[in-house]
Amino acid sequence: ATPSETRSIKAIDALSAHRITSGQVVIDLQTAVKELVENSLDAGATSVEVRFKDHGVESIEVIDNGTGIAPADYDSVALKHYTSKLSSFEDLNSVATFGFRGEALASLCALSASVTITTSTASTAPAGTILELDRFGRVSNRSGKVARQRGTTVSVSGIFKPVPVRRKEFERNAKREFGKALNLLTAYALVPCTHENGGVRLAVSNQLSGRKAVQLRTDGTTSLTSSISAVWGPKTLENLVDLDLTFDVETEKSVLRRQNAGNAEATATKVVVRGMISKFALNCGRSASDRQFFYINGRPCNPTKVQKAFNEVYRTFNATQVPFVVANFTLPNGSHDINVSPDKRTIFIHSEDNLVQALKTALEDRFATERSTYAVKLTQ
Ligand code: ADP
Ligand code: MG
Repeated sequence: ATPSETRSIKAIDALSAHRITSGQVVIDLQTAVKELVENSLDAGATSVEVRFKDHGVESIEVIDNGTGIAPADYDSVALKHYTSKLSSFEDLNSVATFGFRGEALASLCALSASVTITTSTASTAPAGTILELDRFGRVSNRSGKVARQRGTTVSVSGIFKPVPVRRKEFERNAKREFGKALNLLTAYALVPCTHENGGVRLAVSNQLSGRKAVQLRTDGTTSLTSSISAVWGPKTLENLVDLDLTFDVETEKSVLRRQNAGNAEATATKVVVRGMISKFALNCGRSASDRQFFYINGRPCNPTKVQKAFNEVYRTFNATQVPFVVANFTLPNGSHDINVSPDKRTIFIHSEDNLVQALKTALEDRFATERSTYAVKLTQ
């Protein structure tokens, strides 16, 4: 039909509609892997293993020792908007889990050749069940019992096969896509979420022509220095310093509160930033911008303006290198919104410009202190 003709309006068929929305949740290999690993962390796993075959082109498998899925939940586990983590919109203000949209498994089912889940809970272990899921996330086949300790394994084969253009693109760029996925997994490895048992052991491997190669491994440490040395080797630490910033940010709310209360002190939002950054006084070689990891309350994310602020301030102290940065921002509940993009990597921060400004000042002070310490060392 030409644009000037009218066409009747029809509903697209259910599977097409499902694929269209799924394509926004699972954009590429890295978001697929991220969703699976986050599910394992949300299930309280202390050990998570990620196995790629052929850089993920053949399959991705995430194996955890978390709570497992109870038999009563088998039928709804991968249905769209079914989640064990959130039941009303209000809960979003205080959501502590990575997941809350109930879309990841449903999307993976729509976008892959096959998805199977093997799972067992404390009460079913050592017997587990294998669930085969169809494109809508419905259980199409349920096995008899298999041996499985408590935990869950999700296997995704032939990702993007039902969307041939994306599949082709992925196959063509598989190595690069794999690199991005590995980088994102590194973000989860560096700032491990902690619970009563300590940190999370993370192991990532890739199997190419039958040979398995370990790509990343952490030992469940809760300290940033140990996880950095587990990932890049202990020598890396020689080039880094602690980042420890505390500053106040004015928000619209805080200004209002001050005007009302006439109290200049008690109003601003307190922000704490902990992590590590390259020593600027040394020339430690150029660090690529993929060595920059940002977190808000332990949740890895891409705060573009914050990242830019780091690079800008750093450049005024060291023009020749982009810093390695690991920075975890502690922000109070209600000061940011994580439900901006389906992959949750974009976070809306209230009064972000004020935060960025305060961050820049804090960084400048921080580096000025480092510079004077360094200067003293040189003259001694
Ligand atoms: P969400 O994480 O937003 O709830 P998902 O589609 O990622 O949505 O997962 C749906 C539900 O399946 C989760 O709420 C959880 O109850 C269950 N689930 C998924 N992965 C795991 C896992 N590895 N271990 C235990 N439960 C899981
Ligand atoms: Mg999830």
